[in-house]
Amino acid sequence: MHKDLERILFTEEQIRERVVALGKQITADYDGKEIVAVGILKGAIVFFADLVREIKLPVKFDFMAASSYGASTKTSGTVRILKDIDTDIENKHVIIVEDIIDSGLTLKYLKENFEHRKAASVKLCAMLNKPEGRRTDIKGDYIGFDVPDEFIVGYGLDYASTYRNIPYIGILKKSVYA
Ligand code: 5GP
Ligand code: MG
Ligand code: MG
Repeated sequence: MHKDLERILFTEEQIRERVVALGKQITADYDGKEIVAVGILKGAIVFFADLVREIKLPVKFDFMAASSYGASTKTSGTVRILKDIDTDIENKHVIIVEDIIDSGLTLKYLKENFEHRKAASVKLCAMLNKPEGRRTDIKGDYIGFDVPDEFIVGYGLDYASTYRNIPYIGILKKSVYA
C-alpha cells in the first residue's frame, strides 16, 4: 500500500469487477443506441478509459473541464467551464462520467447545462458516491461504490495533483493535508 494512505477501500480486482458490471448494465440499458460519453477532467480519466471498453455499443468520446468559482476548498455551486465539449449533443444520449459525486453541485450544473443543449437524454455515471456530502437532489444513475465521508485518492482522484495513478482506491492520511 502507498505510504500516504490510511487504508485501501477498493482493490484493483474489486474495481475491475465493478466496472465490468457497470459496462454490462449500460450496454443493456442503451441497446440499439449510440452514446456520447463525456469524461470530466481530470479525475474521471482512469475510470473513463476502463468503463468505455466494457460498453459493447458505439461510444463517442468527449471531455469537459469544470471548476468551482472562488478560493474556498468547498464546492461553491457556481461552476466555471474551463474546457467545453466539441461534440454537438442535440438529440444524443449523453452519459457524464465522473470520478466522485460529493455535494453534487458540479454535476447538477453540468447536467442542466447539457439538457439545455437539447440532448435526447443525460445520465450520470460516477465511480464513487459520497452520500453524506450531498447538498443537492442529484443522484447518480450508475454508481461504482458508495464511500464514507473521508478524503479519497487513487484511480484518478488526486490531492494537490498527485496520487491519480495509484491503481486502487484508498483514504488519504490526514497527516498529509492537516
Ligand atoms: P461536488 O460533487 O462536491 O460538486 O464535487 C465533486 C468533485 O470534488 C469531484 O469531481 C472531485 O474532483 C472532488 N472531490 C470530492 N470528494 C473528493 C474526495 O474524497 N477525494 C478527491 N480526491 N476529490 C474529491
Ligand atoms: Mg471531478
Ligand atoms: Mg481534484
